Amino acid sequence: TNFNELGLNQQILATLTQAGYEKPTPIQAEAIPLVLQGRDLIGLAQTGTGKTAAFGLPIIQQLMNDGKTVGPHGVRALILAPTRELVNQIATSLKGFMRKSPLRINMVVGGVSINRQQLALLRGTDILVATPGRLLDLINRKAVTLAGVTHLVLDEADQMLDLGFIHDLKRIAKLIPAKRQTLLFSATMPKAIADLSRDYLTNPERVEV
Ligand code: AMP
Repeated sequence: TNFNELGLNQQILATLTQAGYEKPTPIQAEAIPLVLQGRDLIGLAQTGTGKTAAFGLPIIQQLMNDGKTVGPHGVRALILAPTRELVNQIATSLKGFMRKSPLRINMVVGGVSINRQQLALLRGTDILVATPGRLLDLINRKAVTLAGVTHLVLDEADQMLDLGFIHDLKRIAKLIPAKRQTLLFSATMPKAIADLSRDYLTNPERVEV
């Protein structure tokens, strides 16, 4: 399979060439067409399999296409990840894929000044990459609203549960409209993740690599 067989647009394909991505990884080849169709997805995949582009590219394309604009404090796609390092990596990768679009991306993580993050969120954010705890702090400050989120990604969901983020996840999920696309990635599938999937995903497709 080649990237140009997956339904991605020319602008995105050009950024992949620049990034040196020649061929899709297995999870990219399987997931990208499904996510572009709007399906919910459970991806059983470890780090290093290329899962960031597997969810990032089709979400970016949907945001480019759906003609919506984001209001003050708003968010269109929310990506939750367990650690600062992972949030940073995801945001850096996605920035590269967004170079040819006017979409705005922000990341929020704990351990650094919250005021700067609050300011950055003021004008609205197309893609927000966040750790759950800091996101809730910003929600409590009314720095961000999730009422306009149309795409939700839970990355390394098993890690998030291991780190005790389940209650934060539930609080966050309640603030997002039910009519959305939800993608869940996890390296393992314990019962708690199966339960989470049942609660938050609709008729998900399962992709395993
Ligand atoms: P990830 O699993 O998303 O963290 O990706 C692991 C590493 O593989 C990152 O450094 C990516 O930039 C790289 N990568 C992801 N997909 C591809 C691809 N199709 N071709 C080459 N490198 C890739």
